[in-house]
Amino acid sequence: MTYAFMNGEFLPLAEAKVGVMTHALHYGTSVFEGIRGNWNPEQEKLYVFRLKEHYERFLQGCKIMRIKVPHTAEELSSITLDLLGRSGYQQDIYIRPLAFKGEERVAILKLQDLSDSLVIFPIPLGAYLDLDAAARCCTSSWRRMEDTMIPPRNKIGGLYVNSILAKTEATLAGFDEAILLTNEGYVSEGAGENIFMVMNGKLITPSVSDNILAGITRDAVIRIAKNELGLETMERSMRRSELYNADECFLTGTAAHLTPVGSIDNIEIGDGEIGQITKELQRLYFDVIRGRIPKYLHWCTLASTTAAKASR
Ligand code: PMP
Repeated sequence: MTYAFMNGEFLPLAEAKVGVMTHALHYGTSVFEGIRGNWNPEQEKLYVFRLKEHYERFLQGCKIMRIKVPHTAEELSSITLDLLGRSGYQQDIYIRPLAFKGEERVAILKLQDLSDSLVIFPIPLGAYLDLDAAARCCTSSWRRMEDTMIPPRNKIGGLYVNSILAKTEATLAGFDEAILLTNEGYVSEGAGENIFMVMNGKLITPSVSDNILAGITRDAVIRIAKNELGLETMERSMRRSELYNADECFLTGTAAHLTPVGSIDNIEIGDGEIGQITKELQRLYFDVIRGRIPKYLHWCTLASTTAAKASR
């Protein structure tokens, strides 16, 4: 059975509910995270990737949204491991922590006047985008939310209307993923991923001042590229036409892992197939997240999966 941790207690996920007057449901006053547990079939072990870093970003977002979470990042990490032990998944999973204004009051716009709720639960999740094919992307007609509108560096619920409109538009037009530009027309990121291009053997990705979510996968890929392939990453503003002229392009994110991009706006990137550097980085990244490279085991927290069947 899948368990949730809600407001201090463990309960079956099906019983973790909120009422229709919940503030966050009306106004998007929530902060969430997406964390992956990656199953290693040879070792029969589940490794959670960069658990504490996700909770640190989560708590930063909660601070901005004035949501009080009565736990530290370490405590949230151990609650999550407890949850995984109870739920007993032996497959790739996604963990969703969500902190929100849980008070059932409408028409209150002051965050400080509202009480807070917290829920964490795991769900099974395989590939989010096809990892073996090069994704077809388009530039979205929606622009990425500006830092002057809603803070884009944390996963604030209401912010995601922006990503969802872009993803919906792209998929209805037959593309796999949307790439959003900033209001000034620089490349920002995918609807739920950061973006990289490979140009003359160098990696380039938009800088944090281009309204990106500073992705934990982005950071991992920058380090792996440097340590394992000797590739430096330049973080700078990027133009849309640079993407069209790139040798290779890929997206990174917890859900999307490292997804190759084959075309943007129906223009092939390189030869339209998965690039060599992308392929090599993807291989390394998968070995890292499944706990196969000892050097990166400090990023992988081993979760017990023998379903303790603990009582409530
Ligand atoms: N940008 C957006 C808008 C996202 O939702 C995500 C997924 N969390 C990312 C980038 C990638 O971030 P991370 O690698 O930390 O999952």
